[in-house]
Amino acid sequence: MSQYKNILLTIDFSEHDGFVADKARDLAKQLNAELSILHILDDIPMPDTPYGTVIPLNEDSSYPMLEAEKTQLKQLADKLAIASTDRWLIWGEPKQEIALFAEREKIDLIIVGSHGRHGLALLLGSTANGVLHHAKCDVLAIRLPD
Ligand code: AMP
Repeated sequence: MSQYKNILLTIDFSEHDGFVADKARDLAKQLNAELSILHILDDIPMPDTPYGTVIPLNEDSSYPMLEAEKTQLKQLADKLAIASTDRWLIWGEPKQEIALFAEREKIDLIIVGSHGRHGLALLLGSTANGVLHHAKCDVLAIRLPD
C-alpha cells in the first residue's frame, strides 16, 4: 500500500458513521496520516454565507437545521480528535463535491461507506460508486453492516 498522508472521511449522518469513522481513525493512526472529515449538505437550500458553498463552522447562523448539522459534525470530529482546521461542511451534490474537495485539498485517500446493493438500487448507483468515478485519488469503500 502506498503511504497515504491525507485521508478524508466522508460522513452522511447515518447510523453507520461511527462504524466507518472507527476504521478511518485506526487507518490514519497506523499510517500516521492526517485525517479530515467532510459532510456535504444536500438536503437544505444553500445557506447565505460570505464563503460561497463552504459553511463556516465557527460562526452561528440563524438557520436551526444548519446548526444541527454543525453540531453533529462537531460531535463526531471531537470524538475522533480531528483538528478544527480539518473539519468541513460544504453545500452541494455529494459525489461531485467530495471528489472536487479531495483534489483541492490534496487528499490521497477518500473513505466512504458502501452498502451491498442489488437490482434497481445497484443500477441507480450509490455515493460510493459516484465518488469512485469522479475522484482522481484512491477510494476505500468500507462495507457497511446489513
Ligand atoms: P450512500 O451510497 O448514499 O448510501 O452513502 C454511502 C457513503 O457515502 C456514506 O457512508 C458516506 O461515506 C458517503 N456519503 C453519502 N452521502 C454523503 C454526504 N452528503 N456527505 C458526505 N459523505 C456522504
